[in-house]
Amino acid sequence: ESLINRIAAGEIIHRPASALKELVENCLDAGATSIRVTVKDGGMKLLQIQDNGCGIRKTDLHILAERFTTSKLSTFSDLSHIRTYGFRGEALASISHVAHLSVVTKTKSDTCAWRACYSDGFLVAPKPGQSIEPKACAGNDGTTITIEDLFYNTPTRLSALRSTSEEYSRILDVLTKYAIHNPKVAFSCKKANSPSPDLSTPSSSETLNTIRLLYGHSVAKELVPVKVSSKCPVNEEGDMDVDGGEEDSESWHGEAYITNANYQAKKMVFLLFINHRLVESSRMKRAFEAVYTGILPKGASPFIYLSLEIDPRSVDVNVHPTKKEVHFLNEEAIIEKVSNAFQEALTVQNH
Ligand code: ADP
Ligand code: MG
Repeated sequence: ESLINRIAAGEIIHRPASALKELVENCLDAGATSIRVTVKDGGMKLLQIQDNGCGIRKTDLHILAERFTTSKLSTFSDLSHIRTYGFRGEALASISHVAHLSVVTKTKSDTCAWRACYSDGFLVAPKPGQSIEPKACAGNDGTTITIEDLFYNTPTRLSALRSTSEEYSRILDVLTKYAIHNPKVAFSCKKANSPSPDLSTPSSSETLNTIRLLYGHSVAKELVPVKVSSKCPVNEEGDMDVDGGEEDSESWHGEAYITNANYQAKKMVFLLFINHRLVESSRMKRAFEAVYTGILPKGASPFIYLSLEIDPRSVDVNVHPTKKEVHFLNEEAIIEKVSNAFQEALTVQNH
């Protein structure tokens, strides 16, 4: 069974950056205002993430990584079933199947921190002969998750990874994007033993400032803010509000920063958050790229940051953590409306 668990875990956790994405989301869920990441060997040797969030109660430490249990998952048909209906609550469990996982955590009301180690979904002793029970230790409010030797027991996963520098740049990419989406949260990332961080954002910043800090002044100074929602009137002439009445029940809204005609990069940068989760949609990317046709010269590309909030009943971005591409109801209508809003914002800018 442990082999099946390992395979399943590898479906969720593809590489250090995908583990990190899950962990960052947990920190944000915990209300953290500071998220510090330390990396060794592109995250393969060590991936550590420290937050100042609400912490985990000691009584919950026993079951923290236990959800992905063999009782829930005994055959491959179960596997495909789970893949269809979601892996939520499985991140830490999955990680414990493919790495050495340890947790140090302290809630506000705890008088000390607690340290626990996990393997294959269960508490394990930090060292042979020691107790598996969480151990009292010193620590600040919040949680530190340490992942060591990722994929030590899944050689195929390990061999599918790129160089440590490539994996590290993917980690930085994920953090950069979450930092822009969460400008009030201080993010940092450094290599273990390195004196200075490779990424560092202040707390209580603004989206624009964070973009300037992480992507540079040349992007930030050409950004146009765009707001769009299902209730926006459609201003384009001849564009009928086809999905009119329905939309009140499928309500959504979005906020974006997009570059104007003065910004001309070789490669498009597209940051997409749906309900605060970082996702990918090549369909959206293509549609928005097309908006710039005639605005940018051939070969030039825009920078687009888009945050969409959609009624969770029509989007289940968490259902497929293994899938890179997101799909949801009314996708077509939303893409069209956002494209129109972009078009309009760029046209206004050009006059
Ligand atoms: P999920 O986030 O889908 O519930 P996870 O495996 O990612 O599943 O996390 C399991 C649980 O562990 C979370 O629901 C949360 O209660 C707790 N947890 C994980 N990371 C943190 C953290 N950094 N701070 C506080 N609680 C956490
Ligand atoms: Mg989670």
